[in-house]
Amino acid sequence: MKKNKYSVNKLSNKNPTKDITVDDLKYKLTKSTSGRKKIVKVNSKVKFGPGYLPIIAGPNGIESKELLYEVANTFKKIGVNLFRVHAFKPLTFPYRSKQYYDVGIQGLDWIEELKKYYNFTYICEITEIQYLEKLANTVDILQIGSRNMQNFELLRECARSKKTIILKRHFGTSLRDFLGAAEHILLEGNNNLILCERGVAAPHTHKDTSRFMLDIQAIVALKEISSLPIISDPSHASFWAPWVEPLALASVAAGCDGLIIETHPRPNQSKVDPLQPLNFNEFKNLRNKLNKLCKIFNKKLI
Ligand code: PEP
Ligand code: MN
Repeated sequence: MKKNKYSVNKLSNKNPTKDITVDDLKYKLTKSTSGRKKIVKVNSKVKFGPGYLPIIAGPNGIESKELLYEVANTFKKIGVNLFRVHAFKPLTFPYRSKQYYDVGIQGLDWIEELKKYYNFTYICEITEIQYLEKLANTVDILQIGSRNMQNFELLRECARSKKTIILKRHFGTSLRDFLGAAEHILLEGNNNLILCERGVAAPHTHKDTSRFMLDIQAIVALKEISSLPIISDPSHASFWAPWVEPLALASVAAGCDGLIIETHPRPNQSKVDPLQPLNFNEFKNLRNKLNKLCKIFNKKLI
């Protein structure tokens, strides 16, 4: 019988679309996959891992000083602890009106000032190594976005800062590639690492109402094979506010260790992705439901 040219023993790195060799597959990803489930402690209030459900909330980008204070004020009343204050945004399309651009480095000064009045745990995305030092001095958690998941130099530099890192899965990578990226951080001796599932590209996605598809199964699989906390971002996955609540609840049912929920006082005025944020009332309702789920799953909502 004629041998199929793709038979396993012929697998090699010759196919230019593959960057994994059979040899690579032999390597065990020991740092992200072995040992007891990790608890990542950010400070005395905020922990990621078994028994906890931290909820990260906030707008897509910080937009303006006024918005920052408006959201901070409401979050304090609601009891939110983790505030996403993204000053840097990797925007998919460059040809947009001026309002779409991120606030950039000046946003870090706004956050510095805000910190004098509000004691949140602050999370900001990092897009370039040049901002690392200032960012690491300003916020508590660095987020490495899906588009940078395999920007290994950025990963390693961030790891060396010893800050807690949220690494988002790229929307087109395997779990092995995701864990491979995580190993780059862990190998630098930084174990303060949290993984985030944020949706994958699938045939029915990239429509108005579902840009990506939340890979709930990835949460279950990563819980099985990895020792790292895994959180879920239903906002960026669905791109569609009405689906955020059911997907958030499903993520918790699947065992996630935290959530990112985009929240804006006036979603339709959000400068980026206005279809996906929850307004404050919707967010409060979701939080109440999550509180009930936490009782069933023996978790503490943070
Ligand atoms: C974000 O959290 O704002 C973001 C850009 O997410 P992602 O990298 O998952 O698209
Ligand atoms: Mn975003």
